[in-house]
Amino acid sequence: MEDIKCQGCGSFIQTSNPDAAGYTPKSTLNRDIILCQRCFRLKHYNDIQDVSMTDDDFLTMVSQIRGKKGLVVHLVDIFNVDGTMIKGLSRIVGDKPVILAANKMDLLPKSTNRNKLIKWLQAMGREAGIALEDVHLISSVKGHGLSDLSEVIETKRKDQDVYIVGTTNVGKSTFINKLIQQTTGTKDVITTSYFPGTTLGFIEIPLDDETALIDTPGIVNQHQIAHYISDNDLKIITPKKEVKPRVYQLNNQQTLYFGGLARLDFIKGERQSFVCYFSNQLSIHRTKLKNADHLLHEHRGGLLSPPDYETLEKIPELSAQTLRIEKGKTDIVFPGLGWVTIPEGGLTVAVHSPEKVRISLRSSFI
Ligand code: GDP
Repeated sequence: MEDIKCQGCGSFIQTSNPDAAGYTPKSTLNRDIILCQRCFRLKHYNDIQDVSMTDDDFLTMVSQIRGKKGLVVHLVDIFNVDGTMIKGLSRIVGDKPVILAANKMDLLPKSTNRNKLIKWLQAMGREAGIALEDVHLISSVKGHGLSDLSEVIETKRKDQDVYIVGTTNVGKSTFINKLIQQTTGTKDVITTSYFPGTTLGFIEIPLDDETALIDTPGIVNQHQIAHYISDNDLKIITPKKEVKPRVYQLNNQQTLYFGGLARLDFIKGERQSFVCYFSNQLSIHRTKLKNADHLLHEHRGGLLSPPDYETLEKIPELSAQTLRIEKGKTDIVFPGLGWVTIPEGGLTVAVHSPEKVRISLRSSFI
Protein backbone atom coordinates (compact mmCIF):
# COMPACT_ATOMS: atom_id res chain seq x y z
CA MET A 1 0.00 0.00 0.00
CA GLU A 2 2.94 2.28 0.63
CA ASP A 3 3.39 3.04 -3.05
CA ILE A 4 -0.15 4.25 -3.71
CA LYS A 5 -0.38 8.01 -3.70
CA CYS A 6 -3.50 10.11 -3.65
CA GLN A 7 -3.95 11.60 -7.08
CA GLY A 8 -5.22 14.82 -5.59
CA CYS A 9 -2.69 15.81 -2.97
CA GLY A 10 0.08 13.26 -3.34
CA SER A 11 -0.12 11.87 0.23
CA PHE A 12 0.55 8.15 0.67
CA ILE A 13 -2.75 6.30 0.87
CA GLN A 14 -3.48 4.53 4.18
CA THR A 15 -6.62 2.89 5.59
CA SER A 16 -5.97 2.85 9.31
CA ASN A 17 -6.19 6.42 10.68
CA PRO A 18 -9.15 8.54 9.53
CA ASP A 19 -7.66 11.69 11.02
CA ALA A 20 -4.28 11.44 9.34
CA ALA A 21 -3.17 12.38 5.84
CA GLY A 22 -3.91 9.95 3.01
CA TYR A 23 -6.79 8.13 4.71
CA THR A 24 -9.35 6.34 2.60
CA PRO A 25 -11.75 3.53 3.56
CA LYS A 26 -10.54 0.11 2.31
CA SER A 27 -13.65 -0.31 0.17
CA THR A 28 -12.54 2.50 -2.17
CA LEU A 29 -9.18 1.02 -3.08
CA ASN A 30 -10.50 -0.75 -6.17
CA ARG A 31 -11.53 2.50 -7.85
CA ASP A 32 -9.66 3.59 -10.98
CA ILE A 33 -8.72 6.93 -9.55
CA ILE A 34 -7.63 6.72 -5.96
CA LEU A 35 -8.14 9.80 -3.85
CA CYS A 36 -7.76 10.17 -0.13
CA GLN A 37 -11.04 10.85 1.66
CA ARG A 38 -10.18 14.50 2.03
CA CYS A 39 -9.57 15.03 -1.70
CA PHE A 40 -12.62 12.90 -2.51
CA ARG A 41 -14.82 15.15 -0.40
CA LEU A 42 -13.23 18.24 -1.82
CA LYS A 43 -13.80 17.06 -5.37
CA HIS A 44 -17.36 15.85 -4.94
CA TYR A 45 -18.75 18.06 -2.19
CA ASN A 46 -16.47 21.12 -2.35
CA ASP A 47 -15.77 20.45 1.25
CA ILE A 48 -12.35 20.83 2.85
CA GLN A 49 -11.61 18.63 5.84
CA ASP A 50 -8.65 18.97 8.11
CA VAL A 51 -6.15 16.19 8.63
CA SER A 52 -3.67 16.02 11.44
CA MET A 53 0.01 15.23 11.45
CA THR A 54 2.72 14.62 13.99
CA ASP A 55 4.97 17.55 14.82
CA ASP A 56 7.85 16.10 12.82
CA ASP A 57 5.84 15.45 9.67
CA PHE A 58 4.31 18.88 9.96
CA LEU A 59 7.67 20.56 10.31
CA THR A 60 9.11 18.65 7.37
CA MET A 61 6.15 19.49 5.21
CA VAL A 62 5.70 23.11 6.17
CA SER A 63 9.40 23.88 6.07
CA GLN A 64 9.23 23.09 2.35
CA ILE A 65 7.57 26.43 1.87
CA ARG A 66 10.48 28.25 3.51
CA GLY A 67 12.18 29.00 0.20
CA LYS A 68 8.99 29.95 -1.63
CA LYS A 69 7.41 33.34 -1.88
CA GLY A 70 3.99 34.06 -0.49
CA LEU A 71 1.83 35.20 2.38
CA VAL A 72 1.06 33.11 5.47
CA VAL A 73 -2.31 33.29 7.23
CA HIS A 74 -2.06 31.73 10.68
CA LEU A 75 -5.38 30.78 12.24
CA VAL A 76 -5.68 30.53 16.03
CA ASP A 77 -8.64 29.76 18.29
CA ILE A 78 -9.43 32.88 20.32
CA PHE A 79 -10.65 30.68 23.14
CA ASN A 80 -7.33 28.85 23.26
CA VAL A 81 -4.59 31.11 21.96
CA ASP A 82 -1.83 29.59 24.09
CA GLY A 83 -2.65 26.13 22.79
CA THR A 84 -3.04 27.01 19.11
CA MET A 85 -0.34 29.57 18.31
CA ILE A 86 2.51 27.80 16.52
CA LYS A 87 5.75 28.66 18.31
CA GLY A 88 8.55 29.77 16.02
CA LEU A 89 6.29 29.91 12.96
CA SER A 90 8.38 32.61 11.27
CA ARG A 91 11.45 30.42 11.59
CA ILE A 92 9.57 27.46 10.10
CA VAL A 93 8.06 29.24 7.10
CA GLY A 94 10.92 31.64 6.39
CA ASP A 95 10.61 35.39 6.26
CA LYS A 96 7.17 35.66 4.72
CA PRO A 97 4.65 38.13 6.06
CA VAL A 98 2.29 36.45 8.55
CA ILE A 99 -1.28 37.57 9.16
CA LEU A 100 -2.84 36.29 12.36
CA ALA A 101 -6.54 35.45 12.11
CA ALA A 102 -8.05 34.90 15.56
CA ASN A 103 -11.08 32.73 14.90
CA LYS A 104 -14.26 31.95 16.90
CA MET A 105 -14.79 35.54 18.02
CA ASP A 106 -18.51 34.76 18.29
CA LEU A 107 -17.69 32.91 21.54
CA LEU A 108 -16.42 35.98 23.36
CA PRO A 109 -18.83 38.29 25.20
CA LYS A 110 -19.96 41.34 23.24
CA SER A 111 -18.28 43.57 25.82
CA THR A 112 -14.83 42.41 24.68
CA ASN A 113 -12.43 45.30 24.13
CA ARG A 114 -11.15 44.55 20.62
CA ASN A 115 -8.19 46.94 20.79
CA LYS A 116 -6.90 45.39 23.99
CA LEU A 117 -7.43 41.95 22.53
CA ILE A 118 -5.44 42.80 19.41
CA LYS A 119 -2.60 44.23 21.52
CA TRP A 120 -2.51 41.06 23.57
CA LEU A 121 -2.45 38.91 20.42
CA GLN A 122 0.45 40.97 19.05
CA ALA A 123 2.34 40.43 22.29
CA MET A 124 1.59 36.70 22.17
CA GLY A 125 2.90 36.64 18.59
CA ARG A 126 6.16 38.31 19.62
CA GLU A 127 6.55 35.85 22.49
CA ALA A 128 5.96 32.93 20.11
CA GLY A 129 8.58 34.22 17.68
CA ILE A 130 6.13 35.23 14.96
CA ALA A 131 6.65 38.45 13.04
CA LEU A 132 3.03 39.51 12.65
CA GLU A 133 2.12 41.83 9.82
CA ASP A 134 -1.48 42.19 10.87
CA VAL A 135 -4.05 40.80 13.33
CA HIS A 136 -7.68 40.08 12.43
CA LEU A 137 -10.57 39.05 14.65
CA ILE A 138 -12.93 36.75 12.78
CA SER A 139 -15.70 34.22 13.10
CA SER A 140 -15.62 31.66 10.31
CA VAL A 141 -18.95 30.20 11.32
CA LYS A 142 -20.74 33.54 11.34
CA GLY A 143 -18.66 35.04 8.55
CA HIS A 144 -17.64 38.04 10.70
CA GLY A 145 -14.51 39.86 9.58
CA LEU A 146 -13.98 37.65 6.55
CA SER A 147 -14.49 40.21 3.84
CA ASP A 148 -12.02 42.62 5.48
CA LEU A 149 -9.55 39.82 5.89
CA SER A 150 -9.86 38.61 2.31
CA GLU A 151 -9.28 42.16 1.04
CA VAL A 152 -6.14 42.42 3.14
CA ILE A 153 -4.98 39.02 1.91
CA GLU A 154 -5.51 40.15 -1.66
CA THR A 155 -3.43 43.30 -1.15
CA LYS A 156 -0.68 41.76 0.90
CA ARG A 157 -0.13 38.65 -1.14
CA LYS A 158 1.21 40.76 -4.00
CA ASP A 159 0.15 38.22 -6.62
CA GLN A 160 1.79 35.40 -4.72
CA ASP A 161 0.56 32.20 -3.08
CA VAL A 162 -1.30 32.22 0.24
CA TYR A 163 -0.50 29.53 2.83
CA ILE A 164 -3.09 28.81 5.50
CA VAL A 165 -1.63 27.27 8.67
CA GLY A 166 -3.15 26.30 12.01
CA THR A 167 -3.36 23.51 14.56
CA THR A 168 -6.26 21.05 14.32
CA ASN A 169 -9.64 22.32 15.49
CA VAL A 170 -8.95 26.03 15.09
CA GLY A 171 -11.57 26.08 12.33
CA LYS A 172 -9.25 26.01 9.33
CA SER A 173 -11.62 23.97 7.16
CA THR A 174 -14.60 26.11 8.07
CA PHE A 175 -12.53 29.20 7.30
CA ILE A 176 -11.33 28.04 3.89
CA ASN A 177 -14.76 26.82 2.87
CA LYS A 178 -16.31 30.16 3.85
CA LEU A 179 -13.58 32.16 2.18
CA ILE A 180 -14.06 30.32 -1.08
CA GLN A 181 -17.82 30.78 -0.95
CA GLN A 182 -17.48 34.47 -0.14
CA THR A 183 -14.86 35.36 -2.66
CA THR A 184 -16.28 33.41 -5.56
CA GLY A 185 -19.96 33.71 -4.78
CA THR A 186 -20.33 30.13 -5.94
CA LYS A 187 -18.80 26.89 -4.87
CA ASP A 188 -17.71 26.03 -8.40
CA VAL A 189 -14.17 27.20 -8.26
CA ILE A 190 -12.82 23.99 -6.84
CA THR A 191 -14.71 21.58 -9.03
CA THR A 192 -14.06 23.40 -12.29
CA SER A 193 -10.37 23.93 -11.88
CA TYR A 194 -9.94 21.03 -9.45
CA PHE A 195 -6.75 21.16 -7.46
CA PRO A 196 -3.73 20.37 -9.56
CA GLY A 197 -1.58 17.54 -8.20
CA THR A 198 0.95 19.27 -6.04
CA THR A 199 4.55 18.47 -5.38
CA LEU A 200 4.27 19.56 -1.77
CA GLY A 201 1.38 17.33 -0.85
CA PHE A 202 -0.79 20.30 0.07
CA ILE A 203 -4.20 21.01 -1.31
CA GLU A 204 -4.11 24.03 -3.58
CA ILE A 205 -7.13 26.09 -4.47
CA PRO A 206 -6.34 28.24 -7.49
CA LEU A 207 -6.66 31.99 -6.94
CA ASP A 208 -5.78 32.81 -10.54
CA ASP A 209 -3.80 31.19 -13.34
CA GLU A 210 -0.56 31.25 -11.47
CA THR A 211 -1.18 31.39 -7.74
CA ALA A 212 -3.16 29.43 -5.20
CA LEU A 213 -4.53 29.31 -1.69
CA ILE A 214 -2.61 26.46 -0.09
CA ASP A 215 -4.08 24.49 2.76
CA THR A 216 -1.39 22.99 4.98
CA PRO A 217 -2.27 20.10 7.33
CA GLY A 218 -3.16 20.87 10.94
CA ILE A 219 -0.56 20.09 13.55
CA VAL A 220 -1.64 18.45 16.80
CA ASN A 221 -0.42 20.35 19.82
CA GLN A 222 0.59 17.88 22.55
CA HIS A 223 0.17 20.47 25.26
CA GLN A 224 -3.49 21.09 24.52
CA ILE A 225 -5.98 19.77 27.01
CA ALA A 226 -8.00 18.50 24.02
CA HIS A 227 -5.25 15.97 23.55
CA TYR A 228 -5.98 14.27 26.87
CA ILE A 229 -9.72 14.10 27.01
CA SER A 230 -12.52 11.98 25.55
CA ASP A 231 -14.65 13.17 22.65
CA ASN A 232 -17.56 13.49 24.99
CA ASP A 233 -15.66 15.73 27.41
CA LEU A 234 -14.31 17.77 24.51
CA LYS A 235 -17.89 18.55 23.54
CA ILE A 236 -18.61 19.79 27.05
CA ILE A 237 -15.56 22.04 27.41
CA THR A 238 -15.76 23.48 23.88
CA PRO A 239 -18.09 26.47 23.93
CA LYS A 240 -20.71 26.49 21.21
CA LYS A 241 -22.23 29.86 22.02
CA GLU A 242 -21.10 33.14 23.48
CA VAL A 243 -19.74 32.36 26.93
CA LYS A 244 -21.71 33.84 29.81
CA PRO A 245 -19.56 35.16 32.66
CA ARG A 246 -20.29 33.37 35.94
CA VAL A 247 -19.41 35.47 38.97
CA TYR A 248 -18.44 34.04 42.39
CA GLN A 249 -17.91 36.14 45.50
CA LEU A 250 -15.25 34.29 47.42
CA ASN A 251 -13.63 34.60 50.81
CA ASN A 252 -10.10 33.43 51.15
CA GLN A 253 -9.76 29.72 51.95
CA GLN A 254 -12.39 28.89 49.33
CA THR A 255 -11.90 26.85 46.17
CA LEU A 256 -13.51 26.70 42.74
CA TYR A 257 -13.48 23.51 40.68
CA PHE A 258 -13.97 23.69 36.91
CA GLY A 259 -15.50 20.26 36.45
CA GLY A 260 -12.64 18.19 37.81
CA LEU A 261 -10.21 19.43 35.16
CA ALA A 262 -8.84 22.50 36.90
CA ARG A 263 -9.06 24.24 40.24
CA LEU A 264 -8.45 27.62 41.79
CA ASP A 265 -7.78 28.09 45.52
CA PHE A 266 -8.17 31.58 46.99
CA ILE A 267 -5.36 31.55 49.55
CA LYS A 268 -4.93 35.12 50.77
CA GLY A 269 -6.67 38.48 50.25
CA GLU A 270 -9.91 40.37 50.87
CA ARG A 271 -13.28 38.96 49.86
CA GLN A 272 -13.77 39.66 46.17
CA SER A 273 -15.36 38.50 42.95
CA PHE A 274 -13.98 35.93 40.53
CA VAL A 275 -15.47 36.17 37.04
CA CYS A 276 -15.34 32.84 35.24
CA TYR A 277 -15.41 32.46 31.44
CA PHE A 278 -15.82 28.80 30.49
CA SER A 279 -18.09 26.81 28.21
CA ASN A 280 -21.61 27.28 29.60
CA GLN A 281 -21.83 23.48 29.81
CA LEU A 282 -18.86 23.12 32.17
CA SER A 283 -20.05 23.01 35.76
CA ILE A 284 -18.27 25.06 38.41
CA HIS A 285 -18.27 23.97 42.06
CA ARG A 286 -17.42 26.09 45.06
CA THR A 287 -16.12 24.48 48.23
CA LYS A 288 -13.99 25.18 51.27
CA LEU A 289 -10.28 24.87 50.63
CA LYS A 290 -9.93 22.46 53.52
CA ASN A 291 -12.44 20.06 51.88
CA ALA A 292 -11.14 20.48 48.34
CA ASP A 293 -8.70 17.56 48.19
CA HIS A 294 -11.22 15.18 49.66
CA LEU A 295 -13.90 16.32 47.20
CA LEU A 296 -11.61 15.68 44.26
CA HIS A 297 -10.55 12.33 45.57
CA GLU A 298 -14.11 11.15 46.18
CA HIS A 299 -15.97 12.77 43.31
CA ARG A 300 -13.65 13.22 40.31
CA GLY A 301 -15.38 11.60 37.35
CA GLY A 302 -18.74 11.87 39.14
CA LEU A 303 -19.91 15.15 40.66
CA LEU A 304 -16.69 16.75 39.41
CA SER A 305 -16.86 15.94 35.72
CA PRO A 306 -15.53 16.21 33.08
CA PRO A 307 -13.27 14.18 33.31
CA ASP A 308 -15.41 11.17 32.50
CA TYR A 309 -14.00 7.71 33.12
CA GLU A 310 -12.42 7.52 29.67
CA THR A 311 -10.60 10.82 30.19
CA LEU A 312 -9.41 9.76 33.64
CA GLU A 313 -7.33 7.03 32.04
CA LYS A 314 -5.30 9.43 29.93
CA ILE A 315 -5.22 12.74 31.71
CA PRO A 316 -2.13 13.72 33.73
CA GLU A 317 -2.51 14.49 37.45
CA LEU A 318 -3.38 18.03 38.49
CA SER A 319 -0.32 19.98 39.48
CA ALA A 320 -0.43 23.20 41.50
CA GLN A 321 1.28 26.52 41.22
CA THR A 322 0.99 29.52 43.56
CA LEU A 323 0.47 32.95 42.00
CA ARG A 324 0.51 36.41 43.55
CA ILE A 325 -1.77 38.77 41.65
CA GLU A 326 -1.12 42.41 42.49
CA LYS A 327 -2.96 44.23 39.73
CA GLY A 328 -6.69 44.20 39.15
CA LYS A 329 -8.25 43.23 35.79
CA THR A 330 -5.97 40.26 35.44
CA ASP A 331 -7.01 37.00 33.76
CA ILE A 332 -5.82 33.61 34.93
CA VAL A 333 -5.88 31.56 31.73
CA PHE A 334 -6.45 27.80 31.79
CA PRO A 335 -5.47 26.94 28.19
CA GLY A 336 -8.19 25.12 26.28
CA LEU A 337 -10.70 25.56 29.08
CA GLY A 338 -11.25 29.26 29.71
CA TRP A 339 -10.17 31.92 32.16
CA VAL A 340 -11.00 33.68 35.43
CA THR A 341 -10.89 37.47 35.61
CA ILE A 342 -9.73 38.97 38.91
CA PRO A 343 -11.23 42.47 38.93
CA GLU A 344 -9.53 43.77 42.09
CA GLY A 345 -6.15 42.12 42.55
CA GLY A 346 -4.03 42.07 45.72
CA LEU A 347 -4.43 38.37 46.35
CA THR A 348 -2.67 35.04 46.35
CA VAL A 349 -4.14 31.99 44.64
CA ALA A 350 -3.07 28.44 43.91
CA VAL A 351 -4.07 27.17 40.47
CA HIS A 352 -4.21 23.52 39.53
CA SER A 353 -4.27 22.09 36.02
CA PRO A 354 -3.21 18.86 34.34
CA GLU A 355 0.60 18.77 34.13
CA LYS A 356 1.92 20.06 30.82
CA VAL A 357 -1.06 22.39 30.35
CA ARG A 358 0.60 25.65 31.27
CA ILE A 359 -1.45 28.30 33.10
CA SER A 360 -0.70 31.93 32.26
CA LEU A 361 -1.71 35.47 33.27
CA ARG A 362 -2.73 38.35 31.05
CA SER A 363 -4.27 41.74 31.36
CA SER A 364 -8.01 41.31 30.92
CA PHE A 365 -9.68 42.45 27.66
CA ILE A 366 -13.30 42.41 28.79
P1 GDP B 1 -10.00 22.39 11.56
O1 GDP B 1 -9.63 21.12 12.28
O2 GDP B 1 -9.03 23.49 11.90
O3 GDP B 1 -10.19 22.25 10.09
O4 GDP B 1 -11.37 22.88 12.21
P2 GDP B 1 -12.89 22.77 11.70
O5 GDP B 1 -13.14 23.73 10.61
O6 GDP B 1 -13.22 21.35 11.47
O7 GDP B 1 -13.61 23.33 13.02
C1 GDP B 1 -13.40 22.74 14.29
C2 GDP B 1 -14.60 23.05 15.16
O8 GDP B 1 -14.66 24.45 15.43
C3 GDP B 1 -15.93 22.71 14.51
O9 GDP B 1 -16.79 22.21 15.50
C4 GDP B 1 -16.42 24.04 13.96
O10 GDP B 1 -17.82 24.10 13.87
C5 GDP B 1 -15.90 24.98 15.01
N1 GDP B 1 -15.68 26.33 14.46
C6 GDP B 1 -14.99 26.68 13.35
N2 GDP B 1 -15.02 28.02 13.16
C7 GDP B 1 -15.76 28.53 14.19
C8 GDP B 1 -16.17 29.87 14.56
O11 GDP B 1 -15.90 30.87 13.92
N3 GDP B 1 -16.93 29.95 15.71
C9 GDP B 1 -17.29 28.86 16.46
N4 GDP B 1 -18.04 29.07 17.55
N5 GDP B 1 -16.92 27.62 16.13
C10 GDP B 1 -16.17 27.45 15.02
